[in-house]
Amino acid sequence: MTPDKTPPILYYHRVSPDAAPETGVTPAQFRDQMRFLKVLGFVGTSLEKALACPTGHPGTGVPIALTFDDGYEDNFAFAAPILLELGFTATIFFVVDRMGGRADWTTDPVWRGHRLMDVSMARDLVASGFEAGSHTLTHPDLARVDDRKAREEISGSRERLSHILSCPVTTFCYPYGSFREGHPAMVRDSGYRAARTVRRYRPFGKSDRFRLACRPVSGRMGFPRYALTLGAYRLGIKGGDLS
Ligand SMILES: [Zn+2]
Repeated sequence: MTPDKTPPILYYHRVSPDAAPETGVTPAQFRDQMRFLKVLGFVGTSLEKALACPTGHPGTGVPIALTFDDGYEDNFAFAAPILLELGFTATIFFVVDRMGGRADWTTDPVWRGHRLMDVSMARDLVASGFEAGSHTLTHPDLARVDDRKAREEISGSRERLSHILSCPVTTFCYPYGSFREGHPAMVRDSGYRAARTVRRYRPFGKSDRFRLACRPVSGRMGFPRYALTLGAYRLGIKGGDLS
């Protein structure tokens, strides 16, 4: 599958007034970005839905997958209301064993300690049409753990998340975008239908459902660059100078 047959996928972390630019965007920036998507004729949706129907249905807009890594509480407080107001949804990739706690998998002070959504917030979002995807149980670097541990993090997180939210879990996201050769097959064999990396679109780059490329969006990306990039995606151009 080539990238132009997959929908565009945006990749966010935090949406908060106090988000450091490398970790996310402010609610005001996020609102401007989402409104611009709407102006372009996009409809922000989950990764699962965008993959199932990349061209969309007549009159409903062109699907663009909106994905949020780690499941920060600020996504619930600030991003979700903006999305719902516009008729958009998204995919949140949860670190399943850390829900209701704090980001503890890094020592980097810019990233460490932020509050993560609890189960009832996640259930609320699922009830509003959001997709819950898995970002493992504990956010390990999968390239550095053995196969048994990798299987537990990949497969075990799907079962647990599906159980606690009472919904199917069909998409996965590799922590740090890191994985080994056999992991995409392990993801597939665990029952997922797709997995996102952190790799950016490349010119002529190949993509497949278990190694999906994306476009990270942080506070370091100014609006003109965002507008140019998304305008190109709307025209069906991904990769090249604009990625
Ligand atoms: Zn992450």
